[in-house]
Amino acid sequence: MKIICVGRNYTAHIAELNNERPDEPVIFIKPDSAVLPKQQDFYLPEFSNDVHYEAEVIVKIKKVGKHISERFAGNYYDEVSLGIDFTARDLQSKLKAKGLPWEKSKGFDGSAIIGKWMPKSELGDLDNLDFSLYRNGEQVQNGNTSLMLWKIDALISYISTYFTLKKGDVIFTGTPEGVGKVNAEDLLEGYIGKKNAFTLKIK
Ligand code: ZN
Repeated sequence: MKIICVGRNYTAHIAELNNERPDEPVIFIKPDSAVLPKQQDFYLPEFSNDVHYEAEVIVKIKKVGKHISERFAGNYYDEVSLGIDFTARDLQSKLKAKGLPWEKSKGFDGSAIIGKWMPKSELGDLDNLDFSLYRNGEQVQNGNTSLMLWKIDALISYISTYFTLKKGDVIFTGTPEGVGKVNAEDLLEGYIGKKNAFTLKIK
């Protein structure tokens, strides 16, 4: 499987990182080795002193597709959850400044947290989905998919123009504002609405 991530999909997050608002979705890939196995703790990597959480709605692709039109995109996924796109921000800033690819800062081992999959039929309107991230019991991110610059179906259509989507692929749809640093011993909890998607210990 592969993980396709979307950057700069929420206006307020674009502003907090002083990025430009893109004309098209910003896309990058994490390798399958980035997935943190279920029930494991997240170990801060030794090459960064500034690992950030980015809570994002994620979608699991259920069948192969290429050049998917937006109106049929809903046929390609049944399950949705919340994930974290862990980012070594210090490393990413260096790479960005040099115009180099981000992969080392975004695709390292364990950098993709995939929450418990939930049937989309139980979640209601996917374009108006509340989600939140708590750190040590305090809410640090709170988003709603209505604030996405590109909604889920538009993203699937766009991504499939470049990359054939396959069963089991996961799309990270971008983070809202409120990203921040994690520290050893933090406890992160992600929710879609009131449903818990993951609880994760940082080491
Ligand atoms: Zn992200």
